[in-house]
This record gives sequence, C-alpha cells and structure tokens, in this order.
Amino acid sequence: MGLPLVAVATNLSHDGLCSPVATLDNDAGRGSYGVPNPIAVVIDLDVIREAPVRFVRSGIGDALSNISAIRDWELAARERGEDIDGLAAAMARQAGEAVLRHPGGVGDDGFLQVLAEGLVLTGIAMSVSGDSRPASGACHEINHAFDLLYPKRAASHGEQCGLGAAFAMHLRGAREESAYMAQVLRRHGLPVLPEEIGFTVDEFVKVVEFAPQTRPGRYTILEHLDLSTDQIRDAYADYAKAIGS
Ligand SMILES: [Zn+2]
Repeated sequence: MGLPLVAVATNLSHDGLCSPVATLDNDAGRGSYGVPNPIAVVIDLDVIREAPVRFVRSGIGDALSNISAIRDWELAARERGEDIDGLAAAMARQAGEAVLRHPGGVGDDGFLQVLAEGLVLTGIAMSVSGDSRPASGACHEINHAFDLLYPKRAASHGEQCGLGAAFAMHLRGAREESAYMAQVLRRHGLPVLPEEIGFTVDEFVKVVEFAPQTRPGRYTILEHLDLSTDQIRDAYADYAKAIGS
C-alpha cells in the first residue's frame, strides 16, 4: 500500500526483519517479493524471549548462511564477471561471522543482541546491493527447493538455510569452514543433516539437484559444479563424514 512501516520484531527467525524482500506464500507455493524497507525497527529482547526458541534459533542459520552466500557472490564475480557491492558484502559477511564466533547462546542477551543486529544489518546489506545476493546463494536455493518439493514437510527457513550453507561450504572445498559451521549449528541445536529435519538422504539429493532451478540466473557453487545425481550423493556422503555425523 506504500505506507511507511515501523517493524516490531516478535521473533528473530530470519533476516527479513528489515529487508527489501518479503517471502510470501502464493498459489505456486512460495515466492520472494520486493517491498519497501521499514522506516524503523523495534526489537525488544523481552518480547523475543517469549518466542518459541526453535524459531529464534532459525535466525542463527539464516545469519550464518551469509558466509556461504558471499562466497557464491565472489565465485560469480570471478567466473561470470558479476559486480560485487563491497559494502553490502562486508556488512553481510560480518553479520554472519559475528554470530559464528560468538560463544554465547539464545539464552544470553549479549548473543541475542549480536543476532538481532546481524539480521538487521543483513537486511540493510540487501537494500544497499538492491537484491538478495549478500544473503542468498546455494544455501537459499537449497532452502527454496525444500519448500517447493516438500511444501507440507519443509522445516523453518533458517534450519534449511543453515544446513544448505554447511553443505555448500563443503562443496566449494572449504572443508574446515564447513565443519566449523556445522559444529556451531549443532551447538545451537540446529540441524546439519537432512535426517534431523525428517528427510532421507535420497530426498536431500533430490533437493540439491533441483535447487538451481529455484533461482534461474543466480550463479552459485551448485551451478558452477553442475553435479550429477551420483556426484551429489558422493559429495553428501563425504560431507556427512567430514562433519563427524
Ligand atoms: Zn534467508
């Protein structure tokens, strides 16, 4: 409606608190829509603590996935000559790194503040770059594929993005970073294996295979490697071993 909006967060489940993109359900499942940024955001940690903890944790997965998304953006710049907005990339990466390195958890105000600021900064990074690139790469293609292939069974956005990011980091050969990200996701009670959100390995392989079709034109490690079904299966087995399942 074009009205000025003040966003009052009741949850920290994703980086859409203050972003130019809204994810809405439609007849085809789910889509991303451009929306105006709020003129102000209010985040009261007393309110956030009332939210189901699983959904607050989801925001951790979404914030951490920035790290993988930025690597995809850099890959697209190298391979395809895509422009990188350095400020947007720095903001999104630092938001992800701050959450990754913070020793606390969802019970601490200090951690919740870093998470809240990270999610808001990520939204602003998307406004700066003019699209979702700073926060959405292979991690989010995998998330969208879960939503589209299994609309009734899909887990939360951040749970799927965190798993997608840890797997994408492994695919790009960043094995140690992938294992560390998986370790942090686990510490916060987030899934790192498809079984932990009720999916079989075969279903996950199908998700990864379908993922590039969810964002035509977006170049990530998935489009770059263009893996066959068997190669995805092998890569997954290697990932599960590397993160110590
Ligand atoms: Zn997201």
